Parts: sequence; C-alpha cells; structure tokens
Amino acid sequence: MRALGHRVVDLLVDRLTVDGLPLRRATPAEMRERLAGPPPAGPQPPEKVLERLERDVLPFRSRVDHPRFLAFVPGSGTWPGALADLVASACNVYAGSWMESAGPSQVELEVLGWFKDWLGYPPTAAGSLTTGGSAANMTAFACARENLAGAMRDDLVVYVSDQAHSSVARSARVLGFRPDQVRVLPTREDLRLEPGTLERAIEADLRAGRSPLLVSANAGATNAGTVDPLAELADVCRRHGIWLHADAAYGGFAVLCERGRRELQGLEHAESVTLDPHKWLYQPFECGCLLVRDGKLLRSAFEIAPDYLSEARAAEGETNFADLGLQLTRTSRALKVWLSIQILGLDAFREAIERSLKLAEHAARRVEESKNLELLVPRSLGIVCLRRRFEGADEAELEPRNASLAAALERSGTGLVSSTRLHGRYALRLCILNHTTGLEDVDAVLDFLEHEEPSGEPARSHERHPDVTESLVPPPLGRQPLFASLAADEAEQVAALASGREAQPGETVVEQWGSERDFFVIEDGTADVFVGEEHVATLGPGDFFGELAALDWGAGYGYPRLATVVAGSPLRLLVFADGALAELMRFPSVERRIRAAVHERLPRT
Ligand SMILES: *Cc1c(COP(=O)(O)O)cnc(C)c1O
Repeated sequence: MRALGHRVVDLLVDRLTVDGLPLRRATPAEMRERLAGPPPAGPQPPEKVLERLERDVLPFRSRVDHPRFLAFVPGSGTWPGALADLVASACNVYAGSWMESAGPSQVELEVLGWFKDWLGYPPTAAGSLTTGGSAANMTAFACARENLAGAMRDDLVVYVSDQAHSSVARSARVLGFRPDQVRVLPTREDLRLEPGTLERAIEADLRAGRSPLLVSANAGATNAGTVDPLAELADVCRRHGIWLHADAAYGGFAVLCERGRRELQGLEHAESVTLDPHKWLYQPFECGCLLVRDGKLLRSAFEIAPDYLSEARAAEGETNFADLGLQLTRTSRALKVWLSIQILGLDAFREAIERSLKLAEHAARRVEESKNLELLVPRSLGIVCLRRRFEGADEAELEPRNASLAAALERSGTGLVSSTRLHGRYALRLCILNHTTGLEDVDAVLDFLEHEEPSGEPARSHERHPDVTESLVPPPLGRQPLFASLAADEAEQVAALASGREAQPGETVVEQWGSERDFFVIEDGTADVFVGEEHVATLGPGDFFGELAALDWGAGYGYPRLATVVAGSPLRLLVFADGALAELMRFPSVERRIRAAVHERLPRT
C-alpha cells in the first residue's frame, strides 16, 4: 500500500508541475489503438499499469487547470482538496446518514454553514453537496415543484432567461415540463433579464389560466457572466408567490470578495441557490451545492423512509444528507472543501477570486483600448466576450475568421479560449478563474488574438453562395431572399417542409406570449408587427417572422411569441411547423439571415 501510494504521489507531483498544452486532442481511433482490449484475467505489475496510465491516458485530455486554459469554465483544484478525495475514497466514507457518518456529516454541515454565511442566508437554510451544478439545479426544481404544487401538472410554468445554463433546460425536461411550460425570456442588450419582461410574461400566463411556478435567474451566467437584477426579480416573484431560484454555479463564490459581492447583489433574496465549489472555490471535480432558504422544504421534497433503512432514520437534531437529495449512497464531498480551506486558509481563496476578477477587468480594458479587438458585451464577473475586427469583413465573415483565430491559438499552444453567441452574434469567450493564471498568461492570449493572423484550415467551413434575387430555384421559394442562395435540390428539401396559409386583413397570425412555434415567410401581402401596443414594423413579401419562438433554445424549449403579427392586407404565407426551422438552419445562407434577424429583432422586443 505504501509503496504504490508513494509511487502514485510521485507520478502526480511530476505531472502537475510540468507545463503542457492546455489541450491535447485525439481521435477515437487513436485512443482505441492505445486502450482497447479485454480485462486481464490475472494481476499485472502495478508499475506497468501506471506507466500505461501515464503514457496512454493522462496526456490525452484538457488541462483544465492550465494557467492559459481560459475556455468554458476552467477547473483548478488544490492539492489538499485532491488528497481529501483520496481520503474519502480510501476510507470509503458514506455520507448519507447521521448514524453511519456523524463526523463527515458534521463537516458537511460546517461547510454548508460557511456557504450560507457568505451568501447572507439565514442559519435555518439547508443544503447538500451534489455532483455538480446540474444536479443542484435539478434538485432545486424538484424541491420547488414538490413544495408548491406537488405532482407534475400541465398548467405549471417556469421562466428562464435566454442566458440560462443548459442544465436548467435539462432539469425541466427530465422533470416533465413540456415545451409550452418553459418560457425562455429575452434579455436586454446587456444580457440581463428585465423584471418588467418577467412581470408581463407572468401576467399573460395568469390570464391564460396557467400557474407560474418558478423563475430560474442567473447569478453569473456561464455565457457571459451576467447577473440578473436579483432583488427586483425577487420582488416580482414574491408578489406572485413564485419560487426564485438563482443559478450561481459559475459565479456564486465571487461573494467572497468585495468586488464580486457588489456584482452579485441580491443573491440572498433567492429561495434557492446553486453553487459549484468545483468552479470558483477551487475544488477538484466533482462538487456542486444546493442551498434552500427555508431549510425544511428540502427534506419534505426528498425524504422517503423504507423499512430496510429504519435503523438509519434521523433522530431529532440529526441530519441525513440522503434525505435531502437524489443520492442514497454518497461520498463526502465536504471533506475536500473543509480540508483545503483549513490547510490553505480562506484568505488564499478570497485573494485568488479577487485576482481573477482584476485580471478580467484588465482583459476587458485591453480589448476596449485595442483597435483590433471589440468588446461585445461589458465584462461581467470573470468572463470577457470579444472578437477580432477584420478590416472589411462583414458579420458573416467575422464568425469563421474569429473561429480560425481561436483554432490557431490552440494550435500554437499559447492558450485556449472557447466561443459562444450573444443574441445571435458570434463571440470568443475568456473565462478567467484559475488561481495560477497570471497577468502574463492573459496578456499572451490577448496578444495572440490581437495580432496573429488566423491561418490554415478555417475551424468551420461556411460555404458562401452569392445572394441572388433571380435564382435557379423555382417559385415560390425562388422569390424569397431567405432561400435564394439554395441549390435546386436544397430548395426541394425546403419546399417539402412548407405548407401554405392565407390571412385576411386584420387577422392575427401570431399573438404575443402565445406558445405555438410555427415560422412564417411572407409570399404576398403585408403584416404589421406589434410589441404590446406599439407598432414596431411592417413586413412585406420576402420578409419572415416567428423565428424567435421557432428557435430551439435547448431541450425543445424556446421563447414565447414576443410580438403580435396582424395581416395588413390579404396575406399569403409559407408556414414551417414546429421543428422545421432547425432543419432550415442547416443551410449556412439561411442560418446567417436568421441569426442576423435575431440580433436585430431581439432588442426591439
Ligand atoms: C457549470 C454550470 C452549471 C452546471 O454545473 P455542472 O457542475 O457542470 O453540472 C449550471 N449552471 C451554471 C451557471 C454553470 O456555470
């Protein structure tokens, strides 16, 4: 045991202290070549197996803890945290019931107590450490539904902003919310949810006889770090008796420093909060957390007491963590949080978080001051979204050229960034979080993005057809600018998806807040677009509408209708039913026009 343990520690220390690439990819064929094969029937020398691990497994992965890994959400753990995981595994700690786990349970209560304190939650709040933010979000949704509504019902509605994390969509899907029971609400230009938008959506649902249940707000959205106006959203929710959940998986621990606390104002008002200690609290994977303000609600949502666990039932004053979530058998994730904070001291964590925030501020300033770079949305927490300006490049060219630039950055070994879309616009995205990332790392990556030329293969090939009005595509599609660049066989596929519809002057084709998802192209006639009472546009032949609600935001959910469209003169429409827009967007020329429309139209809603 000792010899093998020492050998493993040596291997780790060697690995962890060499600089490698932030990412080493490999194809499935390459990996099969190295690793495929049946299990050995008998033992093998541990030394040989460890060598294979070092040679064939560990090199082929992202170094999420690399100082220049600025993609997605970096993961930089600590050595004490990793050792605590070893302790939890070696002792096979079971942290499900008080009876079997008084020590680890108390450690988890302590750690959760710290978190409550940092957020400004009352001591009566309760929580549990989970596998991650996804599990925490799902647990929050289940807790809210069980306590406010009980079993699933068709009239329940939840609200999320278009910046919400995909795990929120997955939670809703798994818990049985149908597409018309999840309202994806548009955010303002700064990517924050306007309380008035939420209020109007709730009122529309109440008028339609639905029951608003829950709002999932962003407290540091993964996309661009944005924080919704939490205190104002809490007011709206309180007035309507709705559960406000705050997803702070990425950003929540920024409350540990003054700067971050200012940005996360109002977090304490949420009924529940998701945190991810394996993100900005520097814990090794996996460690998420859910806190619920009214602590008893978590137990009432999850506790089930079978006969075969009767000895382990919690007595008065005891906490059984298995009663507070999905897992019965669960390890102690609290050990790593506790051990790393005890050994390193909380100030080290505070300072690392503050340093990341300052580096993100520095990065945003550099981007703003650079002639070559464009800041696409104000920095929020540690996330900076930008792109390179390429002289003369239009919107359509900016995307592949920036994608190539990011690919060139990766190939050069200088660093790694990822990309996203902000209301339809392509952006490169830096997430600065790692406690070993320094000024020189951020500057090296920005230097590259500012000055290097993308070379080699474009990261994504976007065929560009000239936009022609007289195309070879036969009518009716040929007259549509949206489809004019398609080849004849492509147009045939599109035509097969369309049906026809007519509308008389004054007839409402789509109604604001409605939940149907058809997408329309105008063949003939005019249509007037209203947001609330306000007339915002008149559309004519060749224009399209309904694309916002028709877009799949995730798990089949999407925006409700954000405008009302009324026929201004006799209208002839091509109708693409729910789901067809995704098919249309497989054609780059169509996708480009739809994305441009999203970017232009969303702010007007
Ligand atoms: C990362 C993240 C999640 C998902 O958490 P996992 O730990 O990856 O399961 C959810 N919400 C937000 C805002 C996140 O950043």
